[in-house]
Amino acid sequence: MAWRSSGSSNESLINNLARNGLIESNRVKEAMLKVDRAHFAPYSAYEDSPQPIGHAATISAPHMHASACESLLTYLQPGSKVLDIGSGSGYLTAVFANLVGPIGTVIGIEHIQPLVDMGNTNMAKSEDGRRMLDSGQVQFVKGDGRKGWLEGAPYDAIHVGAAAAEHHKELTEQLKAPGRLFVPVAEGYLQYIYVIDKDADGSVHRKKLYGVQYVPLTDAPK
Ligand code: SAH
Repeated sequence: MAWRSSGSSNESLINNLARNGLIESNRVKEAMLKVDRAHFAPYSAYEDSPQPIGHAATISAPHMHASACESLLTYLQPGSKVLDIGSGSGYLTAVFANLVGPIGTVIGIEHIQPLVDMGNTNMAKSEDGRRMLDSGQVQFVKGDGRKGWLEGAPYDAIHVGAAAAEHHKELTEQLKAPGRLFVPVAEGYLQYIYVIDKDADGSVHRKKLYGVQYVPLTDAPK
């Protein structure tokens, strides 16, 4: 299904994702239409596939970005606070910002400085992006995402863009009650998307969704 969504423009890619049922809601569609993938993907920006962006990182495939937005959508309301761990290209950080704007905030965290810089540079390619950076609506920070980012906590939604080796407790601790975490977790040689809800009473519920292939959440390179 995925490759069939590729397009010749940002608009056709997003329309194809919607037509193929990979984008379900109008809010996600509108937010993805507002962010030109060409500002974030170095080549073949409108292909529905992951691509290398340097530093052993990849920009995830558009259908995975769509799936993350759909899964977190209840917690991506105007005014929500979001943490995007392993922000890489900054693409999904920008889409989240459109979903929670203009008063919500998104922090993208990376453990490699050139990728923090890449997020900033890519965002600054559009007027909208520059406005979001200037206002503090979007911020990219450097740190080990396995520990979340305490300075900005608690969050309505946390997205993890790399596969965790375990269920890091810091991430659920930094969720609001209610709040939701979207995280790929490695189990042996396989990886699965987990959606983890913290309910209003503080109880935590894990739901295992589907198998995926992400780059791992690791120690920073020396
Ligand atoms: N959401 C990004 C995905 C980038 S790939 C995008 O679609 O563009 C995963 C990213 O996780 C890489 O950029 C990698 O540098 C980052 N990463 C890996 N381990 C990390 C860690 N411990 N802390 C923060 N970022 C990490």
